[in-house]
Amino acid sequence: MRTFHAGFEPGRPPVRVRLGAGVRYQIGAEMAALGLSRSLVLTTAEQVQQGEAVRAELGAAAFGLFTRATMHTPVEITEAALEAAKGADCLVAIGGGSTIGLAKAIALRTDLPQIVLPTTYAGSEATPVLGQTANGTKETLRSPKVQPEVILYDPELVATLPAKLTVTSGLNAMAHAVEALYARDANPLSDQLALAGIRAFKDGLPRVVTDLGDLDAREATLFASWLCGTVLAQVGMALHHKLCHTLGGSFNLPHAETHAILLPHSAAYNAHAAAKALAPVAELFGGSVGGGLHDFAVALGAPLALRDLGFVERDLDLAADIAVKTPYWNPRPIERKAIRELLQRAWEGARPE
Ligand code: NAD
Repeated sequence: MRTFHAGFEPGRPPVRVRLGAGVRYQIGAEMAALGLSRSLVLTTAEQVQQGEAVRAELGAAAFGLFTRATMHTPVEITEAALEAAKGADCLVAIGGGSTIGLAKAIALRTDLPQIVLPTTYAGSEATPVLGQTANGTKETLRSPKVQPEVILYDPELVATLPAKLTVTSGLNAMAHAVEALYARDANPLSDQLALAGIRAFKDGLPRVVTDLGDLDAREATLFASWLCGTVLAQVGMALHHKLCHTLGGSFNLPHAETHAILLPHSAAYNAHAAAKALAPVAELFGGSVGGGLHDFAVALGAPLALRDLGFVERDLDLAADIAVKTPYWNPRPIERKAIRELLQRAWEGARPE
């Protein structure tokens, strides 16, 4: 582990976090504590039932329900939601990163407080970061305005997440923590958050996959998600997130699956350069960072190959070109040839060395 160095700052305002089965029934109490009485409930078309249930639970405190949250937060959806939010005094988001992204986009423009109920492990609720898309281009910004004020983690809500999304979303969250370990601005607090998150997912994800309705395991993995999301907010991300942003942004690959497939490969790329920072990961996963994470993904039944997401082999060259342009800081220099090889292995689903 790193030695303590004075002067690091967590750098985030405090957020109210509650975790436990049935905590979703506390939305009204949380609103009342903040002096709020007219919430716009947000979710996706696929989660309309969960949105309706929240609206019914809130009764008169629900001002409206907007069910058009969409991956990558398109600005035109935000504009429609802003219309729906006129007259509301807060936002209640029930969903994954897409729904929480919409709440953040509205909060950026209105300063409305946000109460969020995460139903995936992506971790957006714990960050002051917003990615939004205009004219086909995704921009990412950081602002205290977008950090949700209250997070209610209810394991009964995430228990409806299908097996495939459960696994890919969990690996997406673990990727935040793995990259945090070798971040340039890693600090003693971020190291502990990241390691606790990785350990909890390593223990909890196999249990959840065995029984999707295991509420103890769902609760443990939601806590892990908060740890990994919190660490994502604390330190800078590197090669892995750059590759995922490239493949998501330029080739429209799905978010969680792309993270899940690339994690063993990006970790392997950095395994030698960041050997000290990644030593606890190697130890947890059987001695080899990339190979161990690959074996873990195999055991969980995760997707392994970019070609299975519909990515065509001839686009690998272009993906490598884009990925090495304006690279994020990374512990190992970004070399075009090595990145192209990494992408080839990820495309094939090969086990990293
Ligand atoms: P998502 O929110 O798009 O959800 C994927 C699908 O699963 C959706 O159809 C959703 O309605 C459905 N779903 C979600 N939870 C469910 C549940 N419990 N039961 C049944 N269906 C459920 O997926 P995601 O991976 O959580 O979020 C991805 C988005 O979040 C991306 O746009 C990504 O950029 C963003 N994100 C942002 C940050 C940040 O800090 N800003 C962090 C992580 C992810």
